[in-house]
Amino acid sequence: MTILSPEAQSARILDLFHEVFPDQPIGSYIDGTIVEGSGPAMDLTDPASGTIFASYKDAGASEIDAAMDAAERAQKAWMAQPAAARGRVMWAIAAEIRAHAPLIAEIESRAAGRPIRDMRGEALAVAMMFEYYAGWCDKIYGEVIPVPSTHLNYTRREPVGVVMQITPWNAPLFTGGWQIAPAICAGNGVVIKPSELTPLSTLILGRLCEKAGAPRGLVNVIAGGGPTAGQAGVTHDKTALVVFVGSATAGSSIAAAAAAKTVPCILELGGKSANIVFADADLKRALLGAQGAIFAGAGQSCVAGSRLLVQRSVHEEFVAAYADAAGRIPVGHPSEETTQIGPINNLRQWEKVSGMVDAGVAEGARLAAGGGRPAPLEDTGGFYFAPTILDGVTPQMSVAREEIFGPVVSVLPFDTEEEAVVLANGNPYGLAGAVWTGDVGRAHRMAAAVRAGTFWINSYKTINVASPFGGFGRSGYGRSSGKDALLSYTQPKSVWAETAAEPAGGFGYAPD
Ligand code: NAD
Repeated sequence: MTILSPEAQSARILDLFHEVFPDQPIGSYIDGTIVEGSGPAMDLTDPASGTIFASYKDAGASEIDAAMDAAERAQKAWMAQPAAARGRVMWAIAAEIRAHAPLIAEIESRAAGRPIRDMRGEALAVAMMFEYYAGWCDKIYGEVIPVPSTHLNYTRREPVGVVMQITPWNAPLFTGGWQIAPAICAGNGVVIKPSELTPLSTLILGRLCEKAGAPRGLVNVIAGGGPTAGQAGVTHDKTALVVFVGSATAGSSIAAAAAAKTVPCILELGGKSANIVFADADLKRALLGAQGAIFAGAGQSCVAGSRLLVQRSVHEEFVAAYADAAGRIPVGHPSEETTQIGPINNLRQWEKVSGMVDAGVAEGARLAAGGGRPAPLEDTGGFYFAPTILDGVTPQMSVAREEIFGPVVSVLPFDTEEEAVVLANGNPYGLAGAVWTGDVGRAHRMAAAVRAGTFWINSYKTINVASPFGGFGRSGYGRSSGKDALLSYTQPKSVWAETAAEPAGGFGYAPD
């Protein structure tokens, strides 16, 4: 893909947007049309050059009202269709995404600063999410329960109604598809608010759902801020479920606001995952795995292996090889085919990453690689950060405790398996973890002992829509993906039908 000047980049992003929304301004997609917000202007910045490429007006309570009304109405029309017909629409949505994959990959890469080679795969992964759930549409049903009375008791799995979804900037397309697909599969209407920094790919996803045949207003996409549009959605009377993907701090305040209205939440929050390398591992594979675990996506990944625990007998040689490899990973413009690490998404996050690295060094960590903007990219204006390794980190240091959300790994040595488990679990987050070992028994002992929602053995970062995903501890609750996500988007209803020929004596059922 061509690297464009800031002016040409801006024009290209708008051209791509207008291919899906001809002659429309950037705004919220509500009930099948773009609605301009009524709030202050929000700027969209190209992470690779630091220049503003577009702006739009923030949405607020009135846009949320309109989106909720549309979602409520469309949800009824959606559920009036046979389940198999809904499944066919979901297949058609996947086909639309596949047909638009080059456009989606390009706009996500240019607007969110994510390497084009990653985005091509991600666009197809989102199509697969709809394909997976398409097959589930006519397989959601309850049970007949053998109760000890003359009743026929059965359960129905019903949609919750209107779901408010809020997603972050690190993977807007992926997290959007990830939440929209199970929600509509289960028969719900959706109001989704992507990050105010990256609304474009989700807007396109919303439009493609309707183009494929979903009722108008089934998927509404809000272009707006968290405290404005997001908060209005969380506390709206029509919201039946809140699904939040983002930071732990925002997640707990959103869950509190939803709880005040007795609305349940699914929370997919941050992490500080331990990637554990034992001396008996295939160290070449572990070295590659440790690079992908933290440096892919410039570390802006909730499951990033941001704490690398290395057994002391191989620690020195492993970190030396790791630092050498980190210096050779191609960091560069997201449009370049060879780029493996693009820029950080925004300046505020770049400053947070940089500040945390400085704090780690001030607390006594040794900078083994990286540490700031790579010299060749200094004049670009982009928010680049070199792959960074902090060695000799202790569990008390801020870089061992807090999520950095950038290409920065904290290395902690350990001696025994027991010590590795204590270190891994010595953090309130519990999103993911991994072990690298040649000992089969140890691999499974570690899988059982580490407190995390996802765990890899001699691997890192593989996830799939068919398998449940979610956090333990401070990383959240509820599950996305797989059957578990589908069930979270439904509620069971218990139906009791009397079958006795004669009415029972007394007031009905008495336990025997
Ligand atoms: P963030 O919490 O700042 O924002 C996430 C979303 O919440 C945005 O859309 C934002 O506008 C909205 N928001 C913020 N405050 C709000 C409020 N008071 N009311 C309603 N909405 C509000 O997170 P971020 O910086 O965009 O993303 C990075 C974080 O997301 C990291 O912590 C990362 O680990 C996490 N994340 C988690 C997962 C997961 O699946 N567990 C996936 C991706 C990212």
